Amino acid sequence: MKVLVINSGSSSVKYQLMDMEKEDVLCKGIAERVGISGSRIVHRKGGEKYIIERDLPNHDVALQEVLKILLDENLGVIRDLSEISAVGHRVVHGGEKFASSVLIDEEVMKVLEENVDLAPLHNPPNIMGIKAVQKLLPNVPNVAVFDTAFHQSMPERAFIYALPYELYEKYGIRRYGFHGTSHRYVSRRAAEILGKPYKSLRIITAHLGNGASIAAVKNGRSVDTSMGFTPLEGLVMGTRSGDIDPAIVVHLQTKLGMNVDEVYDLLNKKSGVLGIYGKSSDMRDIEDAAFEGDRMARLALDIYEYRIAKYIGAYAAAMNGVDVIVFTAGVGENSPILRQEICENYLGYLGVKIDRQKNDFKGKEKVISTPDSKVTVMVVPTNEELVIARDTKEIVEKGMKELKLF
Ligand code: ADP
Repeated sequence: MKVLVINSGSSSVKYQLMDMEKEDVLCKGIAERVGISGSRIVHRKGGEKYIIERDLPNHDVALQEVLKILLDENLGVIRDLSEISAVGHRVVHGGEKFASSVLIDEEVMKVLEENVDLAPLHNPPNIMGIKAVQKLLPNVPNVAVFDTAFHQSMPERAFIYALPYELYEKYGIRRYGFHGTSHRYVSRRAAEILGKPYKSLRIITAHLGNGASIAAVKNGRSVDTSMGFTPLEGLVMGTRSGDIDPAIVVHLQTKLGMNVDEVYDLLNKKSGVLGIYGKSSDMRDIEDAAFEGDRMARLALDIYEYRIAKYIGAYAAAMNGVDVIVFTAGVGENSPILRQEICENYLGYLGVKIDRQKNDFKGKEKVISTPDSKVTVMVVPTNEELVIARDTKEIVEKGMKELKLF
């Protein structure tokens, strides 16, 4: 069975075609600058990278061009579109309605449209991607896999904000959490690697990419996570502030005369490590600059690490202990120094001990703690596309309407 995975963003469409028999990636790529001049498709097949310049005025055309590439004699991997058995879509916000991956039908589309208010930046392009596939592959089943679904198991005390309760009841203002597909994958995989029952472990998963979040996974269920009503809350990120005093927002508006859009832009695009360091949001640049003695780069790194360490402490308390800490995503998988500094500078009280030699690597599944460490610390590269493809296969093969996560 071949499954196409689609991750449709506001100006990009990422795709990956998988043969589910051995879970092989046949090809993958990204249509970039959709709706903007200079659009192109970066396609990868068999270790080769191809750049195809194409006018991509909208998501329909972008997907049409992607399908053409899949069929292309040289770049492609299939002879006929009928070889695609199902399409799995990453959808950012499932709200409270979806605690599982679902087969997309008219009813589901209606709920996705209703959720646009909750995720105005993310859900509309996801919906555009689904509609484009429905148009181009009318007989192929579509499955939605939600970033929020895994966190729907959080208890009320973790997801209700201390605001007037009716804001939750009337307007759905609560913590939803994001990156759920990643937290679910790496926590489960960590248990598999350790050969321990998933449902017996207290795991803290730190997804540290451009966007970053951390989750407490107890007995196979997410019990808390750092992103909230939107993906702005929690950890310090590349360009997002994470936690701040909410009164700062009011101050920026009333005292500094910023309007709503300017404040939103400042918190989402000009803050985080970029806001502190000023020159880049890329952790590689910041680490290099810090190493060369740049004070602001070092400060950005210190604040970034300190926030992660504080959340690890909070989640150890939330679960009355922690058995495993997992680092994942761009920074978590590839930055030995950051992992070392977090563990050595802050987590000694938990009995965390890491082996510097074992920790000196990038992008592999590996335990980095010493045998006598009280907490197992490990790196598990994330693979959200694989989870989306697996859920899609299972739902379609078994003729299910939804795949319950818990
Ligand atoms: P996204 O959230 O866009 O999926 P990724 O998970 O790809 O992001 O992570 C991107 C981040 O990973 C960038 O900040 C990048 O600097 C960081 N990164 C990648 N490689 C390294 C590395 N070797 N050392 C430190 N950071 C790295």
